[in-house]
Amino acid sequence: MTAQPALDRTPNPTRDPLSVLNSIFGLPGFRGAQAQIVRHVADGGNCLVLMPTGGGKSLCYQLPSLLRDGCGIVVSPLIALMRDQVAGLVEAGVNAAVLNSTLSYGEASEVERRLLAGNLDLLYVAPERLLTPRCLSLLGQARIALFAIDEAHCVSQWGHDFRPEYIGLSVLAERFPDVPRIALTATADALTRQEIAERLSLTDAPHFVASFDRPNIRYEIVDKQNAVTQLKNFIAKRHSGEAGVVYCLSRAKVDDVAATLKDAGIPALPYHAGLDAAVRARHQDRFINEDGIVIVATIAFGMGIDKPDVRFVAHLDLPKSIEAYYQETGRAGRDGKPSTAWMAYGLSDIVQQRRMIDESTGSDAFKRVSIGKLDALVALAETVHCRRHRLLGYFGETDRAERCGNCDNCLSPPRVRDGKVLAQKLLSCAYRTGQRFGAMHLIDVLVGRLTERVKQFNHDQLSVFGIGRELNEKQWRAVLRQLVAMGHLRADSDAYGALKLTDAARGVLRGETPVMLREQPEGARNRAIRDKSRRGELATAANGKEAASPALHAALRAWRAEVARQRGVPAYVVLHDSTIDGIAAVRPETLTELRCIAGIGDKKLEHYGDELIRLVRTTEN
Ligand code: ADP
Ligand code: ZN
Repeated sequence: MTAQPALDRTPNPTRDPLSVLNSIFGLPGFRGAQAQIVRHVADGGNCLVLMPTGGGKSLCYQLPSLLRDGCGIVVSPLIALMRDQVAGLVEAGVNAAVLNSTLSYGEASEVERRLLAGNLDLLYVAPERLLTPRCLSLLGQARIALFAIDEAHCVSQWGHDFRPEYIGLSVLAERFPDVPRIALTATADALTRQEIAERLSLTDAPHFVASFDRPNIRYEIVDKQNAVTQLKNFIAKRHSGEAGVVYCLSRAKVDDVAATLKDAGIPALPYHAGLDAAVRARHQDRFINEDGIVIVATIAFGMGIDKPDVRFVAHLDLPKSIEAYYQETGRAGRDGKPSTAWMAYGLSDIVQQRRMIDESTGSDAFKRVSIGKLDALVALAETVHCRRHRLLGYFGETDRAERCGNCDNCLSPPRVRDGKVLAQKLLSCAYRTGQRFGAMHLIDVLVGRLTERVKQFNHDQLSVFGIGRELNEKQWRAVLRQLVAMGHLRADSDAYGALKLTDAARGVLRGETPVMLREQPEGARNRAIRDKSRRGELATAANGKEAASPALHAALRAWRAEVARQRGVPAYVVLHDSTIDGIAAVRPETLTELRCIAGIGDKKLEHYGDELIRLVRTTEN
């Protein structure tokens, strides 16, 4: 990276945020609370920012760093993210650099030199590096515009991403009391928020809390039958040729699913800690840089990946909590375009997660919290109401519309029926067989199947044998799962998943507790959602934009891929999808027209303007 002259930062009251936003980032205006936050931090204030993924957190510290004297120090645990953000900033003409373990001694010394010379606007530092005495003393000698603590929830010991080195960041308030601190996170719950504020000395600072809604993400949760086949259909019918992430719990399953998808002609790559580091890095790079790769991964994947055009996130196993589900699904659609969060879920998922909690070495308090979190997620999976309403309600946003119109339950409302009698049959069956058997055997008894096991235990002699012939096995599975989710049955982790009645089951057996069950064949549901999606897409196309100029669109993408390859950066660092869409729609003929498109700042205009205009002129409609 060659040093460019630092931006003019002589104190200048006319240097207003909006003009910097426009000239550097090529954006016409702020989003949500960005303007307020930028003003507050630029004026030297501390704050805590809670905004969903894709909400636009980066600008909240990048812009004040450009507006204030000195260099903005960004603490981030995510090396890949730092690298891509810095590449994007350098593209836009900002003097940005990273300081982390991937640099050689010589490279690191050069960055340090630039910092001391006042030649940097933004410096991204890994927390463990920042906390070294050497780095702290370096910062003591430099002029610092602000500290931005990204992924600030990593200080929370209750959270899912706790990083011990984040605790040490409390030193910033002590050593640099006059430098503003801005902590940012996409994790919303109140406990985490309070912990961040305490540890980073931000209790008196304003908290800017944005809505956590991700309106462009469609939530869908399906009944798990043959999960991999369901996934293949989902990708083929809804997201063919598009980039996505598939999450599985185990390494073996990751390998398996990736191979199956590949056999089906879907470009899928595995990613988990058991793979050779070089292979892993290669798969991640391909996912980021190429179009339409599906990565199959354990949940660790995605932290720190800034790919804006992930079109779907699929879960083949249940996450641990709503927080985890929200964070993982949140990796879809950072660019704001329509995306899907899809999950296949079944009884075995609940049993497995319960077992993992029961067998963990955590304290009783920890287990109780974990079970509560799992229950909340299961309730989200079982709800017959709007998923978004429920999800956001969990994060304390209770003032939202009852129906979002962009989740499976809104698009194709499930039928609900009185399940009291079915529930009683099933619970009696578990009771009469001694609460020693799992789902499969209970269903065999209910539908009156004379298996070896049934004969062995004389269960064909029981009054419950064959009393459930009105449903098939698949339907009974759904009933069973819902009874577990409602807490009437519990899978015993000591006894190979034997299903036992809980205290709550008594009310059902006595007929005092109502039981409402959802029912809907998945096929019909899928069709309904797909048809509605297609109508939506046609409507968008008719409104102009994407279908505006397919040839130009393709030419721009090809040009971008080539530039990205030559420069060794991800395609979206060169131009975002939305900027390409904008150019294809507007077909600018002059540099002035081009400059008006969101995402084209001064530097991009200077570097690529002529070539883009030439492409527009020479490409037919
Ligand atoms: P976060 O860090 O909150 O996940 P980012 O800062 O990466 O989100 O921003 C997400 C996307 O939104 C990026 O593509 C960014 O360019 C875009 N964006 C952010 N702020 C604005 C804005 N004011 N106008 C238009 N696009 C914006
Ligand atoms: Zn909804």
